[in-house]
Amino acid sequence: MPNILDGKKLAQEIELILKQTIESGSKLAKRPPGLAVLRVGNDPASGVYVNYKEKACDRIGVRSFANHLKEDISLEELREIIKSLNEEKNVDGILLQLPLPSHLDEDSLLRSIDPDKDADGLHPLNLGRLIKGEKGPRSCTPAGVMALLKRNQITIEGKRAVVVGRSILVGKPMALMLEAANATVTVAHSRTKDLVSITREADLLVVAAGKPYLIGHNHVSDNCVVIDVGIHRLKPEEENLKERKKIKLCGDVKMFEIEDKVAAYSPVPGGVGPMTVTMLLANTVDRWQKHCGLPLTISHLLP
Ligand code: NAD
Repeated sequence: MPNILDGKKLAQEIELILKQTIESGSKLAKRPPGLAVLRVGNDPASGVYVNYKEKACDRIGVRSFANHLKEDISLEELREIIKSLNEEKNVDGILLQLPLPSHLDEDSLLRSIDPDKDADGLHPLNLGRLIKGEKGPRSCTPAGVMALLKRNQITIEGKRAVVVGRSILVGKPMALMLEAANATVTVAHSRTKDLVSITREADLLVVAAGKPYLIGHNHVSDNCVVIDVGIHRLKPEEENLKERKKIKLCGDVKMFEIEDKVAAYSPVPGGVGPMTVTMLLANTVDRWQKHCGLPLTISHLLP
């Protein structure tokens, strides 16, 4: 039987550590950690994610500074808001919820976040730190994958890792983190030819392509460890076509085709998703300790 990498359980364990860390540090810090989440427009998926993040902040005692901004906000207006959050003493982390409406330049806005408050590790300076192996805030989703692997004692060193996807948000930082942990890494993407032959070579396969059920039985070799980052909502008519019990969410991997073949896998839901939110909290608490001059006690939770 494969090992199911339970992100929900690990996220709860880490949240408890973070909650206790906040409780024990707040007296000295004289304030709780603060996280500002910027949501622009009415993208429904972003609304759901921001809601999760705010609830998670409440659970562990992080003060959240919610900013739901109008769809047609100008680049300048948004830059001004980021600037004021950069200067706000009670804010330790700033997260710009992506995707943004098309008239806004994502790169320049990410660049305008103070790198020291960059809760999602997407500022070019922090991506540069990742390349150089220096400490700094790390992108939450790949950081969550690394924590999940570590907790389940899955060896990375010396393994052949394949990452499907090369986005700045997931694929690229994921590949860099695996390489830093001494895996030999191949990155596949939408222009890759013969994806099957590449993924079949993986001891560790991380799929972040954003394509429902892209990866199936033929793509994986026996005893591979498979991490499914993708998350998709199936339409009701697709659900009815499924022979299996009704599924509302699915990933990039047909887990039902490979679960008897692989050594371990992360389920959707309950795998990488909860870990992403938890690593956002961990980044914020780590920043708070730094900003308030407290001992840095949770660095071991971050890659
Ligand atoms: P993206 O669209 O920015 O990038 C997708 C990447 O996959 C691209 O680099 C593209 O080249 C590659 N790709 C697309 N089709 C491919 C194919 N047929 N073969 C090989 N490569 C292909 O998406 P993203 O932001 O990186 O997110 C990827 C997925 O992960 C999405 O489903 C997203 O919803 C999900 N996601 C989940 C979490 C979480 O917390 N679980 C967090 C972030 C993203």
